[in-house]
Amino acid sequence: MPSILTKAIIENAVIISAVESKALVNRAIKIHNLSPVAAAALGRALTMAALMGKELKNEDDYLTATINGGGPLGTITVCADGKGRVKGTVSNPVVETTLRPDGHLDVGSAVGRDGAITVIKDLGLKQPYVGTSKIISGEIASDFAYYYATSEQQPCGVTLGVGLQKGRCKSAGGVFVQVMPNCPEDLLYRLETVMYAMDEMSYQFDGSTAEQVIKRFFGEFNPVFTETQVVKYKCNCGKRKINNVVKGLGKQEAQSIIDELGQIEICCHFCGKKYTYGQEEIDKMFK
Ligand SMILES: [Zn+2]
Repeated sequence: MPSILTKAIIENAVIISAVESKALVNRAIKIHNLSPVAAAALGRALTMAALMGKELKNEDDYLTATINGGGPLGTITVCADGKGRVKGTVSNPVVETTLRPDGHLDVGSAVGRDGAITVIKDLGLKQPYVGTSKIISGEIASDFAYYYATSEQQPCGVTLGVGLQKGRCKSAGGVFVQVMPNCPEDLLYRLETVMYAMDEMSYQFDGSTAEQVIKRFFGEFNPVFTETQVVKYKCNCGKRKINNVVKGLGKQEAQSIIDELGQIEICCHFCGKKYTYGQEEIDKMFK
């Protein structure tokens, strides 16, 4: 089953997006060989990237979010475009998993709470948009909600969940609620009550689509469904991009690697694809 994102609107004042992201998370687990706590952290971040990507105006717009909380996972990087293509990576994918007293994975400690989220949006303009905010919990959902509230002045609610079983993702998903400035006070209050009760998100998406989850929580507000999109883990690396990496080494450095190892091998951080360069190619590149 591919991951599907669904959007709805309530009273022309609140936009709800939800995505069922099990397939996305399982692809990331397979590529990066993630430990459970790394799978939960990167899985939540990928789910958020899918939700954020849908907010880009054009299909070719591109966003990159980095989460660095100073914890043992290192930096989490996730990317998304406007077509539902998402990818991500984490510096240390095999961090040992610890549990919180309530039995849940301790994602907050693995991410860390001393650092920042940075979002870069390439919207096809001269300069990319860059926004940043500090990390408040390391649990990712509340960190992104804080990012939107402080850096983009967009009040919102974010809830993300990744459920794991035997090293695989059993269920995952997220809900992103954006409040427009015209939202009536009483609607906002009722929505906050609903959002507050949204717990254990991964269970909510177990066997349910994004549309069903929206109906379950927000049905009483008569949401009008506006869009759906297939979301996929897809890397946009390619020979041309990697050529630039090799060129960036400079002739001398490239040659010394060839002399030592016989070839230059570059592995894409996001999808694991390997690109190799031999003497002949290096000669051509630097002639
Ligand atoms: Zn790649």
